[in-house]
Amino acid sequence: MSVEHAAVQRTDYDQVVVPTYAPAGFIPVRGAGSRVWDQAGRELIDFSGGIAVNVLGHAHPVLVNALTEQAHTLWHVSNIFTNEPTLRLAKKLVAATFADRAFFCNSGAEANEAAFKLARRVAHDKYGPQKFEIIAALNSFHGRTLFTVSVGGQPKYSDGFGPKIDGITHVPYNDLDALKAAISDNTCAVVLEPIQGEGGVLPADKAYLEGARALCDQHNALLVFDEVQSGMGRTGQLFAYMNYGVTPDILSSAKSLGGGFPIGAMLTRETLAQHFSVGVHGTTFGGNPLACAVAEAVVDVVNTPQVLQGVQARSEHFMSRLRAIGERYGVFSQVRGMGLLIGCVLAEGWKGRAKDFFTTAEKHDLMILQAGPDVVRFAPSLVIDTADIDEGLDRFERAVAELTGA
Ligand SMILES: *Cc1c(COP(=O)(O)O)cnc(C)c1O
Repeated sequence: MSVEHAAVQRTDYDQVVVPTYAPAGFIPVRGAGSRVWDQAGRELIDFSGGIAVNVLGHAHPVLVNALTEQAHTLWHVSNIFTNEPTLRLAKKLVAATFADRAFFCNSGAEANEAAFKLARRVAHDKYGPQKFEIIAALNSFHGRTLFTVSVGGQPKYSDGFGPKIDGITHVPYNDLDALKAAISDNTCAVVLEPIQGEGGVLPADKAYLEGARALCDQHNALLVFDEVQSGMGRTGQLFAYMNYGVTPDILSSAKSLGGGFPIGAMLTRETLAQHFSVGVHGTTFGGNPLACAVAEAVVDVVNTPQVLQGVQARSEHFMSRLRAIGERYGVFSQVRGMGLLIGCVLAEGWKGRAKDFFTTAEKHDLMILQAGPDVVRFAPSLVIDTADIDEGLDRFERAVAELTGA
Protein backbone atom coordinates (compact mmCIF):
# COMPACT_ATOMS: atom_id res chain seq x y z
CA MET A 1 0.00 0.00 0.00
CA SER A 2 1.32 3.43 -0.80
CA VAL A 3 0.16 6.94 -0.01
CA GLU A 4 -1.26 9.18 -2.72
CA HIS A 5 0.85 12.27 -3.32
CA ALA A 6 -0.68 15.50 -4.53
CA ALA A 7 1.52 17.47 -6.93
CA VAL A 8 3.58 20.22 -5.27
CA GLN A 9 5.79 22.94 -6.63
CA ARG A 10 8.35 25.48 -5.45
CA THR A 11 5.76 28.28 -5.20
CA ASP A 12 3.95 26.25 -2.51
CA TYR A 13 6.96 26.84 -0.28
CA ASP A 14 6.20 30.54 -0.10
CA GLN A 15 2.64 29.76 1.01
CA VAL A 16 2.96 27.01 3.60
CA VAL A 17 6.51 26.87 4.99
CA VAL A 18 7.76 29.26 7.66
CA PRO A 19 10.10 31.48 5.65
CA THR A 20 13.34 30.82 7.56
CA TYR A 21 14.98 29.79 4.27
CA ALA A 22 14.93 30.95 0.68
CA PRO A 23 15.54 27.69 -1.22
CA ALA A 24 16.63 27.59 -4.86
CA GLY A 25 14.01 27.69 -7.56
CA PHE A 26 14.12 23.98 -8.44
CA ILE A 27 13.11 20.97 -6.34
CA PRO A 28 15.50 18.02 -6.20
CA VAL A 29 13.58 14.75 -6.33
CA ARG A 30 16.26 12.07 -6.66
CA GLY A 31 19.98 11.60 -6.14
CA ALA A 32 22.58 8.97 -6.96
CA GLY A 33 26.24 9.40 -6.09
CA SER A 34 27.10 13.04 -6.82
CA ARG A 35 24.27 13.61 -9.29
CA VAL A 36 20.84 15.02 -8.46
CA TRP A 37 17.71 15.28 -10.62
CA ASP A 38 15.00 17.89 -10.27
CA GLN A 39 11.26 17.69 -10.93
CA ALA A 40 11.78 18.50 -14.61
CA GLY A 41 14.35 15.72 -15.01
CA ARG A 42 17.30 18.11 -15.16
CA GLU A 43 20.54 16.54 -13.93
CA LEU A 44 22.81 18.52 -11.62
CA ILE A 45 26.24 17.77 -10.16
CA ASP A 46 26.29 18.14 -6.39
CA PHE A 47 29.29 19.89 -4.85
CA SER A 48 27.17 21.06 -1.90
CA GLY A 49 26.72 17.66 -0.27
CA GLY A 50 23.67 18.85 1.64
CA ILE A 51 26.00 21.32 3.46
CA ALA A 52 28.73 18.83 4.35
CA VAL A 53 26.22 16.11 5.21
CA ASN A 54 26.04 13.66 2.30
CA VAL A 55 29.52 12.39 3.02
CA LEU A 56 29.03 9.36 0.74
CA GLY A 57 26.88 11.08 -1.85
CA HIS A 58 23.26 10.21 -2.50
CA ALA A 59 21.75 6.74 -2.09
CA HIS A 60 25.03 5.02 -1.26
CA PRO A 61 24.17 1.29 -1.39
CA VAL A 62 25.74 0.48 2.00
CA LEU A 63 23.71 3.23 3.69
CA VAL A 64 20.50 2.37 1.84
CA ASN A 65 20.96 -1.21 2.95
CA ALA A 66 21.62 -0.27 6.58
CA LEU A 67 18.56 1.99 6.67
CA THR A 68 16.14 -0.41 4.98
CA GLU A 69 17.33 -3.40 7.00
CA GLN A 70 16.84 -1.45 10.22
CA ALA A 71 13.49 -0.12 8.96
CA HIS A 72 12.26 -3.71 8.72
CA THR A 73 13.62 -4.52 12.17
CA LEU A 74 13.12 -1.81 14.83
CA TRP A 75 12.54 1.95 14.56
CA HIS A 76 12.31 3.33 18.04
CA VAL A 77 12.12 2.17 21.64
CA SER A 78 13.15 5.34 23.59
CA ASN A 79 15.93 5.55 26.14
CA ILE A 80 13.98 3.61 28.73
CA PHE A 81 15.47 0.74 26.72
CA THR A 82 18.73 0.63 24.82
CA ASN A 83 19.15 -0.85 21.36
CA GLU A 84 21.80 -2.68 19.39
CA PRO A 85 22.64 -0.01 16.77
CA THR A 86 23.30 2.55 19.55
CA LEU A 87 25.72 0.22 21.28
CA ARG A 88 27.51 -0.74 18.08
CA LEU A 89 27.89 2.89 16.98
CA ALA A 90 29.12 4.02 20.40
CA LYS A 91 31.72 1.24 20.47
CA LYS A 92 32.99 2.18 17.02
CA LEU A 93 33.23 5.91 17.78
CA VAL A 94 35.00 5.22 21.06
CA ALA A 95 37.43 2.81 19.39
CA ALA A 96 38.20 5.34 16.64
CA THR A 97 38.73 8.46 18.80
CA PHE A 98 40.12 9.87 22.07
CA ALA A 99 36.71 9.40 23.67
CA ASP A 100 35.52 6.77 26.13
CA ARG A 101 31.81 7.55 25.86
CA ALA A 102 29.23 8.92 23.44
CA PHE A 103 25.98 10.81 23.97
CA PHE A 104 23.60 10.67 21.02
CA CYS A 105 21.18 13.34 19.87
CA ASN A 106 19.71 14.57 16.60
CA SER A 107 21.64 17.58 15.33
CA GLY A 108 24.80 19.61 15.61
CA ALA A 109 23.16 22.20 17.81
CA GLU A 110 22.06 19.51 20.23
CA ALA A 111 25.51 17.93 20.27
CA ASN A 112 26.94 21.35 21.17
CA GLU A 113 24.17 22.02 23.69
CA ALA A 114 25.19 18.77 25.40
CA ALA A 115 28.88 19.72 25.17
CA PHE A 116 28.36 23.17 26.70
CA LYS A 117 26.06 21.91 29.42
CA LEU A 118 28.53 19.16 30.28
CA ALA A 119 31.41 21.64 30.49
CA ARG A 120 29.42 23.85 32.85
CA ARG A 121 28.27 20.88 34.91
CA VAL A 122 31.80 19.54 35.33
CA ALA A 123 33.08 22.96 36.44
CA HIS A 124 30.14 23.41 38.80
CA ASP A 125 30.62 20.00 40.39
CA LYS A 126 34.41 20.21 40.71
CA TYR A 127 35.17 23.89 41.28
CA GLY A 128 31.95 25.68 42.23
CA PRO A 129 29.30 27.94 40.68
CA GLN A 130 31.68 30.81 39.81
CA LYS A 131 33.38 28.76 37.09
CA PHE A 132 30.89 28.99 34.21
CA GLU A 133 32.53 31.27 31.65
CA ILE A 134 32.86 30.03 28.09
CA ILE A 135 35.30 31.48 25.58
CA ALA A 136 34.47 31.09 21.90
CA ALA A 137 35.68 32.60 18.65
CA LEU A 138 34.33 35.55 16.74
CA ASN A 139 32.64 34.49 13.53
CA SER A 140 32.17 30.94 14.82
CA PHE A 141 28.99 28.93 14.30
CA HIS A 142 27.67 26.35 16.73
CA GLY A 143 23.96 25.97 15.92
CA ARG A 144 20.64 27.77 16.42
CA THR A 145 19.41 26.97 19.93
CA LEU A 146 19.61 29.89 22.35
CA PHE A 147 22.73 28.51 24.06
CA THR A 148 24.48 27.70 20.79
CA VAL A 149 23.72 31.06 19.14
CA SER A 150 24.97 32.74 22.31
CA VAL A 151 28.25 30.80 22.10
CA GLY A 152 28.46 31.33 18.33
CA GLY A 153 30.38 34.45 17.38
CA GLN A 154 27.89 35.95 14.92
CA PRO A 155 25.48 38.47 16.48
CA LYS A 156 23.18 38.27 13.43
CA TYR A 157 22.13 34.84 14.73
CA SER A 158 21.85 35.73 18.42
CA ASP A 159 20.41 39.28 18.45
CA GLY A 160 16.70 39.87 18.85
CA PHE A 161 15.72 36.93 21.04
CA GLY A 162 15.86 38.60 24.43
CA PRO A 163 18.64 38.07 26.95
CA LYS A 164 21.41 35.77 25.74
CA ILE A 165 23.08 33.12 27.83
CA ASP A 166 25.40 34.80 30.31
CA GLY A 167 29.12 34.32 30.74
CA ILE A 168 30.27 33.98 27.14
CA THR A 169 33.26 35.88 25.74
CA HIS A 170 34.27 36.03 22.07
CA VAL A 171 37.86 36.40 20.93
CA PRO A 172 39.39 36.69 17.44
CA TYR A 173 40.09 33.28 15.89
CA ASN A 174 43.71 32.16 15.47
CA ASP A 175 44.84 34.85 17.93
CA LEU A 176 46.50 33.09 20.84
CA ASP A 177 47.33 36.31 22.70
CA ALA A 178 43.65 37.27 22.71
CA LEU A 179 42.74 33.87 24.12
CA LYS A 180 45.46 34.15 26.75
CA ALA A 181 44.14 37.56 27.78
CA ALA A 182 40.55 36.32 28.05
CA ILE A 183 41.01 33.01 29.87
CA SER A 184 40.92 32.81 33.67
CA ASP A 185 40.24 30.34 36.45
CA ASN A 186 36.54 31.12 35.98
CA THR A 187 36.66 29.76 32.44
CA CYS A 188 34.96 26.37 32.21
CA ALA A 189 35.48 25.80 28.49
CA VAL A 190 37.14 27.07 25.35
CA VAL A 191 35.03 26.20 22.32
CA LEU A 192 36.59 26.11 18.85
CA GLU A 193 35.92 24.77 15.39
CA PRO A 194 39.23 23.30 14.12
CA ILE A 195 38.10 24.75 10.79
CA GLN A 196 35.57 27.55 10.88
CA GLY A 197 32.99 26.32 8.38
CA GLU A 198 30.10 28.79 8.16
CA GLY A 199 32.54 31.54 9.07
CA GLY A 200 34.37 31.16 5.75
CA VAL A 201 36.21 27.79 5.67
CA LEU A 202 39.10 29.05 7.77
CA PRO A 203 41.43 26.40 9.25
CA ALA A 204 43.01 26.95 12.67
CA ASP A 205 46.78 27.29 12.89
CA LYS A 206 48.41 24.32 14.57
CA ALA A 207 50.15 26.57 17.11
CA TYR A 208 46.79 28.14 17.98
CA LEU A 209 45.13 24.85 18.87
CA GLU A 210 48.25 23.68 20.73
CA GLY A 211 48.28 26.96 22.66
CA ALA A 212 44.56 26.69 23.42
CA ARG A 213 45.12 23.17 24.76
CA ALA A 214 47.92 24.39 27.07
CA LEU A 215 45.89 27.38 28.32
CA CYS A 216 42.90 25.14 29.09
CA ASP A 217 45.13 22.80 31.08
CA GLN A 218 46.61 25.71 33.04
CA HIS A 219 43.18 27.01 34.00
CA ASN A 220 41.31 23.71 34.49
CA ALA A 221 39.10 24.56 31.53
CA LEU A 222 37.82 22.01 29.04
CA LEU A 223 38.73 22.23 25.38
CA VAL A 224 35.66 21.63 23.23
CA PHE A 225 36.06 21.03 19.50
CA ASP A 226 32.98 21.56 17.39
CA GLU A 227 33.59 19.07 14.58
CA VAL A 228 30.03 19.11 13.30
CA GLN A 229 31.28 20.29 9.90
CA SER A 230 34.97 19.28 9.94
CA GLY A 231 34.49 15.73 11.18
CA MET A 232 33.73 12.30 9.74
CA GLY A 233 36.50 12.13 7.18
CA ARG A 234 36.06 15.51 5.56
CA THR A 235 39.67 16.57 6.19
CA GLY A 236 41.19 13.21 5.25
CA GLN A 237 41.28 12.03 8.87
CA LEU A 238 38.21 10.76 10.71
CA PHE A 239 38.19 13.99 12.75
CA ALA A 240 40.11 17.19 12.04
CA TYR A 241 41.76 17.18 15.48
CA MET A 242 43.77 14.18 14.28
CA ASN A 243 45.41 16.34 11.62
CA TYR A 244 46.54 18.75 14.31
CA GLY A 245 47.63 16.29 16.97
CA VAL A 246 45.63 18.31 19.52
CA THR A 247 43.08 16.31 21.50
CA PRO A 248 39.94 17.96 22.93
CA ASP A 249 38.11 16.97 26.11
CA ILE A 250 34.74 17.08 24.38
CA LEU A 251 33.94 16.79 20.68
CA SER A 252 30.66 17.36 18.90
CA SER A 253 29.74 15.62 15.67
CA ALA A 254 26.68 15.68 13.41
CA LYS A 255 26.20 16.58 9.71
CA SER A 256 28.27 13.85 7.96
CA LEU A 257 27.85 11.45 10.88
CA GLY A 258 24.54 10.24 9.49
CA GLY A 259 25.39 10.76 5.82
CA GLY A 260 21.99 12.45 5.42
CA PHE A 261 20.06 10.81 8.25
CA PRO A 262 19.71 13.22 11.21
CA ILE A 263 21.98 12.33 14.11
CA GLY A 264 24.40 14.13 16.41
CA ALA A 265 26.89 12.91 18.97
CA MET A 266 28.90 14.34 21.82
CA LEU A 267 32.07 12.42 22.58
CA THR A 268 34.04 12.72 25.80
CA ARG A 269 36.31 11.03 28.29
CA GLU A 270 35.19 8.73 31.10
CA THR A 271 35.75 11.07 34.05
CA LEU A 272 33.83 13.90 32.38
CA ALA A 273 31.00 11.65 31.23
CA GLN A 274 30.34 10.70 34.85
CA HIS A 275 29.03 14.23 35.48
CA PHE A 276 26.09 13.46 33.16
CA SER A 277 24.63 10.93 35.56
CA VAL A 278 21.14 9.47 35.23
CA GLY A 279 18.55 12.18 34.57
CA VAL A 280 20.95 15.12 34.17
CA HIS A 281 20.50 15.41 30.41
CA GLY A 282 18.55 13.63 27.70
CA THR A 283 16.47 13.65 24.52
CA THR A 284 13.68 11.42 23.24
CA PHE A 285 15.18 10.52 19.89
CA GLY A 286 18.83 10.30 20.95
CA GLY A 287 20.27 6.93 19.95
CA ASN A 288 17.36 6.15 17.66
CA PRO A 289 17.97 2.76 16.00
CA LEU A 290 17.44 4.00 12.43
CA ALA A 291 19.87 6.91 12.91
CA CYS A 292 22.48 4.80 14.65
CA ALA A 293 22.28 1.99 12.10
CA VAL A 294 22.95 4.46 9.28
CA ALA A 295 25.72 6.24 11.20
CA GLU A 296 27.36 2.92 11.94
CA ALA A 297 27.44 2.20 8.22
CA VAL A 298 28.88 5.68 7.58
CA VAL A 299 31.68 5.03 10.08
CA ASP A 300 32.35 1.61 8.54
CA VAL A 301 32.75 3.04 5.06
CA VAL A 302 34.42 6.37 5.86
CA ASN A 303 36.92 5.19 8.46
CA THR A 304 38.96 3.15 5.99
CA PRO A 305 42.35 4.00 4.44
CA GLN A 306 40.75 3.76 1.01
CA VAL A 307 38.21 6.53 1.63
CA LEU A 308 40.39 8.75 3.85
CA GLN A 309 43.38 8.67 1.49
CA GLY A 310 41.03 9.27 -1.42
CA VAL A 311 39.97 12.55 0.22
CA GLN A 312 43.52 13.88 0.01
CA ALA A 313 43.93 13.00 -3.67
CA ARG A 314 40.56 14.51 -4.58
CA SER A 315 41.31 17.60 -2.51
CA GLU A 316 44.58 18.33 -4.30
CA HIS A 317 42.94 17.94 -7.69
CA PHE A 318 39.92 20.04 -6.69
CA MET A 319 41.98 22.86 -5.17
CA SER A 320 44.51 23.07 -8.00
CA ARG A 321 41.74 23.40 -10.58
CA LEU A 322 39.97 26.02 -8.45
CA ARG A 323 43.22 27.98 -8.14
CA ALA A 324 43.62 27.86 -11.93
CA ILE A 325 40.05 29.12 -12.41
CA GLY A 326 40.67 31.83 -9.81
CA GLU A 327 43.78 33.00 -11.64
CA ARG A 328 42.26 32.87 -15.09
CA TYR A 329 39.26 35.01 -14.15
CA GLY A 330 40.75 37.00 -11.27
CA VAL A 331 37.88 36.13 -8.92
CA PHE A 332 39.64 34.53 -5.92
CA SER A 333 42.26 35.93 -3.59
CA GLN A 334 42.76 32.55 -1.90
CA VAL A 335 41.65 28.92 -2.14
CA ARG A 336 41.76 27.40 1.35
CA GLY A 337 40.41 24.66 3.54
CA MET A 338 41.29 21.07 4.29
CA GLY A 339 40.42 17.87 2.48
CA LEU A 340 37.03 18.26 0.84
CA LEU A 341 35.95 21.31 2.81
CA ILE A 342 37.11 24.01 0.44
CA GLY A 343 36.59 27.77 0.44
CA CYS A 344 37.40 30.22 -2.35
CA VAL A 345 37.81 33.70 -0.90
CA LEU A 346 36.47 36.27 -3.31
CA ALA A 347 38.97 38.84 -4.56
CA GLU A 348 38.62 42.60 -4.14
CA GLY A 349 35.87 43.71 -6.53
CA TRP A 350 33.93 40.45 -6.02
CA LYS A 351 33.44 40.77 -2.28
CA GLY A 352 29.86 40.23 -1.13
CA ARG A 353 28.93 38.32 -4.29
CA ALA A 354 29.16 34.66 -3.22
CA LYS A 355 25.41 34.37 -3.76
CA ASP A 356 25.87 35.31 -7.44
CA PHE A 357 28.31 32.40 -7.85
CA PHE A 358 25.74 30.09 -6.28
CA THR A 359 22.95 31.29 -8.56
CA THR A 360 25.03 31.24 -11.72
CA ALA A 361 26.43 27.77 -10.94
CA GLU A 362 22.86 26.52 -10.59
CA LYS A 363 22.07 27.86 -14.06
CA HIS A 364 24.95 25.66 -15.26
CA ASP A 365 23.52 22.59 -13.49
CA LEU A 366 25.86 22.68 -10.53
CA MET A 367 25.05 22.80 -6.81
CA ILE A 368 27.62 24.67 -4.69
CA LEU A 369 27.61 26.54 -1.36
CA GLN A 370 28.62 29.84 0.05
CA ALA A 371 30.13 30.47 3.49
CA GLY A 372 29.09 34.02 4.21
CA PRO A 373 28.99 36.69 1.49
CA ASP A 374 32.69 36.53 0.58
CA VAL A 375 33.49 32.82 0.29
CA VAL A 376 32.37 30.23 -2.25
CA ARG A 377 32.33 26.85 -0.50
CA PHE A 378 32.51 23.27 -1.74
CA ALA A 379 31.70 20.23 0.42
CA PRO A 380 31.22 17.33 -2.01
CA SER A 381 30.91 13.64 -1.28
CA LEU A 382 34.17 12.09 -0.10
CA VAL A 383 33.81 9.37 -2.71
CA ILE A 384 32.89 11.60 -5.63
CA ASP A 385 34.21 10.24 -8.96
CA THR A 386 37.08 12.15 -10.54
CA ALA A 387 34.96 12.42 -13.69
CA ASP A 388 32.22 14.15 -11.68
CA ILE A 389 34.77 16.54 -10.14
CA ASP A 390 36.03 17.47 -13.59
CA GLU A 391 32.60 17.79 -15.17
CA GLY A 392 31.41 19.85 -12.17
CA LEU A 393 34.44 22.14 -12.34
CA ASP A 394 33.92 22.56 -16.10
CA ARG A 395 30.40 23.71 -15.30
CA PHE A 396 31.74 25.96 -12.54
CA GLU A 397 34.26 27.51 -14.92
CA ARG A 398 31.49 28.22 -17.45
CA ALA A 399 29.51 29.87 -14.64
CA VAL A 400 32.49 32.02 -13.66
CA ALA A 401 33.07 32.92 -17.31
CA GLU A 402 29.44 34.04 -17.57
CA LEU A 403 29.65 36.00 -14.34
CA THR A 404 32.83 37.80 -15.33
CA GLY A 405 31.65 38.38 -18.89
CA ALA A 406 34.75 36.58 -20.19
C1 LIG B 1 26.03 23.04 10.96
C2 LIG B 1 26.84 23.31 12.18
C3 LIG B 1 26.26 23.28 13.46
C4 LIG B 1 24.77 23.13 13.67
O1 LIG B 1 24.32 21.86 13.30
P1 LIG B 1 22.74 21.64 13.15
O2 LIG B 1 22.64 20.18 12.79
O3 LIG B 1 22.28 22.55 12.06
O4 LIG B 1 22.11 21.96 14.44
C5 LIG B 1 27.07 23.47 14.55
N1 LIG B 1 28.39 23.66 14.41
C6 LIG B 1 28.99 23.68 13.20
C7 LIG B 1 30.47 23.87 13.11
C8 LIG B 1 28.23 23.52 12.04
O5 LIG B 1 28.81 23.58 10.85
